[in-house]
Amino acid sequence: MANPLYDTLFGAHAGSEAPFLYLPDGNKITYAGFLESSAQIAHVLTGLGLWAGDRVALQVQKSPQALAVFAACVQAGLVLLPLNTAYTTEELTYFIENSGAALVIIDSGKLEALAPVAEGLGARVETLNADGSGSLTDKAAQAPRQFDTVPRGEDDLAAFLYTSGTTGRSKGAMLTQANLLSNARTLVQEWRFTADDVLLHALPIFHTHGLFVATNVTLVAGGSMIFLPGFDLDQILAQMPKATAMMGVPTFYTRLLDDPRFTRGAAVHMRLFISGSAPLLAETHVQFEALTGQRILERYGMTETNMNTSNPYDGERRAGTVGFPLPGVELKITNPETGATLPQGEVGAIEVRGPNVFKGYWQMPEKTAAELREDGFFITGDLGVIDADGYVSIVGRSKDLIISGGYNIYPKEIELVLDEQDGVLESAVIGVPHRDFGETVVGVLVPRNGATLDTDAIMEKIRQPLARFKHPRRLVVVDSLPRNTMGKVQKNLLRDEFKDLFV
Ligand code: ATP
Ligand code: MG
Repeated sequence: MANPLYDTLFGAHAGSEAPFLYLPDGNKITYAGFLESSAQIAHVLTGLGLWAGDRVALQVQKSPQALAVFAACVQAGLVLLPLNTAYTTEELTYFIENSGAALVIIDSGKLEALAPVAEGLGARVETLNADGSGSLTDKAAQAPRQFDTVPRGEDDLAAFLYTSGTTGRSKGAMLTQANLLSNARTLVQEWRFTADDVLLHALPIFHTHGLFVATNVTLVAGGSMIFLPGFDLDQILAQMPKATAMMGVPTFYTRLLDDPRFTRGAAVHMRLFISGSAPLLAETHVQFEALTGQRILERYGMTETNMNTSNPYDGERRAGTVGFPLPGVELKITNPETGATLPQGEVGAIEVRGPNVFKGYWQMPEKTAAELREDGFFITGDLGVIDADGYVSIVGRSKDLIISGGYNIYPKEIELVLDEQDGVLESAVIGVPHRDFGETVVGVLVPRNGATLDTDAIMEKIRQPLARFKHPRRLVVVDSLPRNTMGKVQKNLLRDEFKDLFV
């Protein structure tokens, strides 16, 4: 094939009048219509002098046109660099400089601040606004609706996807056509997506979850998406009767469960609810089943690898686990110091290998060498364990592991106990510097609506289920946990806030 990713995701649907996107205003975009728009954008991109392999930074609100930029980049052989809409000008400057982007596409509201920076770095600038207007669309309107696909191979780069920056500065993961294609094909099979599926899409499209999982799976299956600008409960509830599946982060599910309009009837014709990007509390899983009679399917992945594991479609979807390694993905649990594989049942570093694993971090050879082994295994930075039935559970991140007085303490274990206490909505357990122990345990608690927490009583109650060295030395109460846009708790911010408690 001339361009495997384009041909499979997009080219296969050329001329098809089947629906691709349903928009909240009632409009519908067919595959043929979408591909004509993306071909027009591809003409604009190449007309600006962009050449196969050049990077295109895209920081815009979610819209069909923004998605068409993805298709245009693939068709023109360009490397897409989707960027979080929350990034400031200063952060954007880092990404443009770091990636060497040849073109930056931004909202016109940012033009004044960003144009000088982009130009200083030798990048061109075009605008694309939330409503689809902008210089890019103006130029595209004049362009032909057919574009000759630029030949590319499976090993060519398709995207630089920056990580969420939960543990530090975001890193640009280099993803090839084969990385994206292999994962999308596997997920279509595993999750049984077909052309009849209508996916409720409320995720951002600058992240692997909304772009490469949700969108690519729909494209490979030839299904359609109800394409919402963001997560809005009213819209979700209004659109759900027309959908067959939804992919979400855990907060989607907790927010749905908190809304009395979300009933068994509202979900009755949905065949699949998928969760990922952050841990789904077992409690949410159980509540969801009690209400709807359906079990959320939790899976595990990351920017660098797309998806690695998934609970089974047909077998038991086990709460608190992320299921089994996907076909073609090898997963092992290793000793973080020696790299030796640990026996089943022991907690260690999660390493994965497969066609989904990225080529390395852009311009970070040392980091790449430290995390991507020569034999192809990627050290994910997550800690996990495999149970006797083969289900994988994530215990936390290596960087969040607490080492106190020589003992390894896994925050998750303590969080699970704290979460069960009266009045506790959720918790985050962190290690903070301590004079005698090196680090010690602090539990950060968020009360349920209206509840007042008695931290002494909670401390008393958790003594029994937890070994002494795991007891938090302090419990602090906060209104909410700091989270980034993907709903991930930013423990580094908490560690920073409470770093002086014991020194
Ligand atoms: P950074 O690498 O910049 O610190 P990040 O790791 O949060 O940020 P992403 O690639 O968006 O960036 O997220 C991947 C991480 O999300 C995984 O390594 C894992 O820690 C977490 N994750 C994803 N799915 C799940 C899940 N189902 N359960 C628990 N954690 C999950
Ligand atoms: Mg990461």
